[in-house]
Amino acid sequence: MDKVVWKSPNDEAMVTDYTCPACNKGLLKLFKEDLVLREYVRSKANHKHEDMQSDWVESSCSGVLQCNHDYCLEYVSFCGEARGDDIEYISDEVPGGWGLEYIDKIEIKYIYPSPNLIPLSAKYPESIIQLLKDSFCLYWSSQHLALIKCELSLRRFLMTKSSFEA
Ligand SMILES: [Zn+2]
Repeated sequence: MDKVVWKSPNDEAMVTDYTCPACNKGLLKLFKEDLVLREYVRSKANHKHEDMQSDWVESSCSGVLQCNHDYCLEYVSFCGEARGDDIEYISDEVPGGWGLEYIDKIEIKYIYPSPNLIPLSAKYPESIIQLLKDSFCLYWSSQHLALIKCELSLRRFLMTKSSFEA
């Protein structure tokens, strides 16, 4: 799963690829008013440099995502870091037919509750589901630890498999 969300200053709201962990149907949406970006002090110092580039802009960020499913509309919190960039766009309204737009690429480091990275069956024991959900939360900050937690849940699943097949 891609942990980076592109946020343009013109986006009032954008839909991410993340499925809502509450309903597992809707997609999580980021609203501009629910996003806080604060440029790091060390990054602000770069603005005085004569070779300053957009990708030198680094910020701390946090926000709230909301499910876009009309019958759910649940919220999910996240925090992470953002890095600036310029993207090319094509438009007849711009001389030359194309232009550059500044965007912030947000890398999510923590999200709660995390979207499910794999489908969770209602047939799984609650203890397995909880281990997998813990694994999904770890994925955003440490894929290595997420894998260990996932492996643990798989082992526990195999040990208890016969008990819930009946
Ligand atoms: Zn939802």
